[in-house]
Amino acid sequence: MVKNTWPDSSGYYGKYGGKFVPETLMSALSELESAYAEALADAEFQQQFNQLCKDYIGRPTPLYYAVQLTAKSGGATILLKREDLAHTGAHKINNALGQGLLAKRMGKTRIIAETGAGQHGVAVATVCAMLGLECIVYMGEEDIKRQAPNVTRMELTGAEVRPVTSGSKTLKDAINEAIRDWVSNVRTTHYLLGSVVGPHPYPMIVRDFQSIIGRESKEQVLAVYKRLPDYLVACVGGGSNSIGLFHPFYDDKDVKFIGVEAGGEGLESGKHSATLATGKAGVLHGTKSYLMEDEHGQIKETHSIAPGLDYPGVGPEHSFYKDSGRATYVTVDDKQALEGFRLLCDTEGIIPALESAHAIYYAAKMAKGLGQEILIIVNLSGRGDKDLDIVTKALGMGK
Ligand SMILES: *Cc1c(COP(=O)(O)O)cnc(C)c1O
Repeated sequence: MVKNTWPDSSGYYGKYGGKFVPETLMSALSELESAYAEALADAEFQQQFNQLCKDYIGRPTPLYYAVQLTAKSGGATILLKREDLAHTGAHKINNALGQGLLAKRMGKTRIIAETGAGQHGVAVATVCAMLGLECIVYMGEEDIKRQAPNVTRMELTGAEVRPVTSGSKTLKDAINEAIRDWVSNVRTTHYLLGSVVGPHPYPMIVRDFQSIIGRESKEQVLAVYKRLPDYLVACVGGGSNSIGLFHPFYDDKDVKFIGVEAGGEGLESGKHSATLATGKAGVLHGTKSYLMEDEHGQIKETHSIAPGLDYPGVGPEHSFYKDSGRATYVTVDDKQALEGFRLLCDTEGIIPALESAHAIYYAAKMAKGLGQEILIIVNLSGRGDKDLDIVTKALGMGK
């Protein structure tokens, strides 16, 4: 695993992070923290994780030189980290596998998870089937309607999908419901959180399991180009695929990090998910970080054409990177993301997830002004099959 500069021993990244949870969960978080520390030090656990990354997920995923995309953009060399080729079609499986193995090691028999668009739920259901664990996924009723194929995938792999009818019936409500379940069943149950959010130690654990993306990328770029990249570009929802790419390069000060948030219908419209660009510090789902709230301190409704970016919070480590200047955060709106989506389909024959299309658009745009010797690694966090309905409607294709 990578060198852990942050968080500190209380789970803080500068002034962000921590654990803001009911008393009943404090001991569960401590149990998880020590179990994780033991697993980190256990060569057998690491070997098991690495072996399944290889045999089950299909790692290492390629670092692909996008020749046509580079030519079309007319500037810097663009390399794509192909997380879209991981089993279940996105990076989420890396974390689901890691935490699934950890839960087994802790003797937990029951896994609960939240899901928004269903991508994390699918990854968790998949891993639970493979490891023989009971799996319950909380999903907002609204999301169940919008993401029917993912509900089928979860049910096929043996998970129970529980509809959440509170609040806006979407992701943040599903997280609240999962936390409620955990409080009641903490002895038998592991809560398998899907991004670098939530109370310590989750942001650290998820980051470490996702850091396989950055570690592989570093090895791959060094093998071919004999040097480090100049830029890393990734989309930011909760922040797990981006931190997974960025973190192993943390001490390589010449490598610049660019996180791309969802600009939705434009920052002025208020309909977006640009938490770092427009939010302010507060506490949500057990962690202190940037978040989006209205003038009454209520969590704002968010919007993005990419279901996986539609979350009003962001991981505490990103808040810390933003304030310290280690990473730069930009926004790409729905229309631009669709342009990025088409661009990758046209130039490379790869259909990206709409989330990843945000990063593609930004990387192609910034590449234009730069020389070909400049290397940009873009995290292609997932494949776009899940988004075909949205894209068909948005582009006015089909009937
Ligand atoms: C869930 C998801 C994201 C956003 O989540 P992060 O935690 O920010 O990575 C991005 N891309 C894809 C394909 C996803 O499924």
